[in-house]
Amino acid sequence: MLKVYNTLSRKKEIFKPRNGKKVNLFVCGPTVYDFSHLGHARTYIAFDVIVKYLRQNGYEVFYLQNITDIDDKIINRAKENNATPEKLARRFEKEYLDDIKSLKINGVTKYARATDHIKEIIGQVSRLNEKGCAYKIEDGIYYDISKFKGYGKLSKRTVLQAEDGVSRIDEGKEKRNKGDFCLWKFSKPGEPEWESPWGKGRPGWHIEDTAITEKYFGPQYDIHGGARDLIFPHHEAEIAQMEAISGRNPLVKYWLHSGFLTVNGQKMAKSLGNFITIRDFLKENSARFLRLLVVKAHYRSPIDYSEKLISQTKRELEKIDEFLEKIRNIKSKKQVKEVNLFSTSSYASAFDEVMEDDFNTPKAIAAILELVNKGNTLIAQNKLSSEDANNVLVFLKKVDDIFGFILEKKPKEKIPEAILKLIEEREECRKKNQWQKADELRRKIKESGFLAEDTKEGPKLKKI
Ligand SMILES: [Zn+2]
Repeated sequence: MLKVYNTLSRKKEIFKPRNGKKVNLFVCGPTVYDFSHLGHARTYIAFDVIVKYLRQNGYEVFYLQNITDIDDKIINRAKENNATPEKLARRFEKEYLDDIKSLKINGVTKYARATDHIKEIIGQVSRLNEKGCAYKIEDGIYYDISKFKGYGKLSKRTVLQAEDGVSRIDEGKEKRNKGDFCLWKFSKPGEPEWESPWGKGRPGWHIEDTAITEKYFGPQYDIHGGARDLIFPHHEAEIAQMEAISGRNPLVKYWLHSGFLTVNGQKMAKSLGNFITIRDFLKENSARFLRLLVVKAHYRSPIDYSEKLISQTKRELEKIDEFLEKIRNIKSKKQVKEVNLFSTSSYASAFDEVMEDDFNTPKAIAAILELVNKGNTLIAQNKLSSEDANNVLVFLKKVDDIFGFILEKKPKEKIPEAILKLIEEREECRKKNQWQKADELRRKIKESGFLAEDTKEGPKLKKI
């Protein structure tokens, strides 16, 4: 039985979707004004794993993600770059989707842009107005948090505490309560704007999510995910908006929040020089390495990206790769008599058991590494049959459909043009029986970090 930790109740609860095996799941998407960084990668890999696990276990998941393509950050960055906000947003939306694809995140059913849902957003603001939860001041339409009794139930803040939480809450001199947030922002000259019953403007940040989820899921749905820094005020605002509009609660049955990613114990920030974009990371590292690094931690736990973690994760990945190579070799050998000593089923049930416990991926990884150790011991004793090897591969394939880092082949090493020339030259020498010169060239190739091996199919190169 699957259990998930629900931020709303601060407890692990048995997972029972609202409608049989159907799961409507929404995760806050990016604000597209810059390249995405490792913190984003962490969140989206974590939810990719959760979605793939649910699907493998028979749940029919509609995974919805919004794209915030209108926002102050976008407008300001566009000004700095002498671009229009729309052009800037489209560019970084594309960069985001490219990054996501590189990380093998492919479970999202629909991406929904805020600007494609202006009509729905205006509809929600109108209804909040009618219910007396909204008011108009100089710079926009605001939500009056004192009108919503349940305000603070997700973040466990009272309305009074919300008064202190002014960070990331829209400023406005005439606001009734400090914690009130903007639903519709009136535009200044030159800013992007849409017509509305209250004047030209653009949506506030929180209202796009509820407008989008109401359109595709209705007023209530199963899972809302996101990084934990979104709990307040963002997700609290979503509850206040949608529950006030519909009169139904809860808006979301299970709230799932992922932990932070720090770099050497510090928050990632451009000013600290430790800001790592996904793009830069992938220049030096593989996507599967990052996926293992994320999956090794529980989705709710923090990850500290450090040299220690990097080298440990690399070793684990190498260990898995070496094991797989051996297993594949054994599988391809045809043995007449076989004794099956190795049972993968105990590892498979351990995997299922820990994943059912709020997606305990670090324990799942531990089970896989244990399988690798045990398998290696049996291989060394020549006790692993080709049937065993096949069973191991079937199990690891199932795991990999969720985790996405195990079975991927290593990308082929790119061989520099100069080395290829040396190889060609050496082949010529060999054909002409100029062995001394051929050996000399082989040395040269070795000095450049490659090993030339002569096989029946011709020379093969290996990186040293
Ligand atoms: Zn959001």
